[in-house]
Amino acid sequence: MAPSDAAIVVEDLHKRFGKLEVLKGVSLQAQQGDVISIIGSSGSGKSTLLRCINLLETPNDGRVWVNGELIRMKKLRSGEAEPEDSKQVDRIRASLGMVFQSFNLWSHMTVLDNVIEAPVHVLKVPRKEAVERAEALLAKVGIADKRDHYPSHLSGGQQQRAAIARALAMQPKVMLFDEPTSALDPELVGEVLRVIRQLAEEGNTMLLVTHEMRFAREVSSKVIFLHQGRTEEEGTPAEVFDNPRSDRIRQFLKVQH
Ligand code: ADP
Ligand code: MG
Repeated sequence: MAPSDAAIVVEDLHKRFGKLEVLKGVSLQAQQGDVISIIGSSGSGKSTLLRCINLLETPNDGRVWVNGELIRMKKLRSGEAEPEDSKQVDRIRASLGMVFQSFNLWSHMTVLDNVIEAPVHVLKVPRKEAVERAEALLAKVGIADKRDHYPSHLSGGQQQRAAIARALAMQPKVMLFDEPTSALDPELVGEVLRVIRQLAEEGNTMLLVTHEMRFAREVSSKVIFLHQGRTEEEGTPAEVFDNPRSDRIRQFLKVQH
């Protein structure tokens, strides 16, 4: 049984794409308020791990609890699996805010409309209330003046901050970030990291895939190093960055800037 007060529990997760086994038994636990950074080389399975947690992918094996709720899966004869209960999937997804590398804003909507879309249509929040909340969130991420702009008129850093505001508008219990600054010009990385740092300091629970090692060291309560679909190293930032046990992470850290 998973501890019911944990935000996320992943137990022995396996994910295959055809013959390629991408996750080979990954486990992790995020308590409320944890900031867990997931690091590792390209192709090590970081995105797949996040996508299995919010059910953009269905794991082939293993168990996932979100906010104490076990995600129910059924195994198909093909060896694939699928979620048993689409209502549960909707509920789980609504409790997880996901921010991707590519900002994924709706290009035909203003920033404000991007932020209020899901609260109004999914949570049925009255429009006026949703707008007030959206304005507060846009102010929080520092783009209050962009509310009526279309995404294409924003810099990458502003678009990513809008995407964070949009995720926060659903009042998620956990935020999942998948390389949120990897697509940004270097001079725009800082403004997005500042927002994520503030969310961390406010006690939000977050899983963060990142190549920003210095940032990961500063904000994380725990760091997980994935290597070829397995957890190769796991611990506090000091343990993982200053005193790694495995040669693989030493090699990996050597080539990071
Ligand atoms: P990371 O985020 O660490 O770079 P990914 O989780 O994106 O790694 O991918 C891990 C491996 O899984 C890669 O070899 C990738 O090509 C493969 N992969 C990811 N998604 C799919 C998919 N939908 N179909 C087939 N292979 C995939
Ligand atoms: Mg990835």
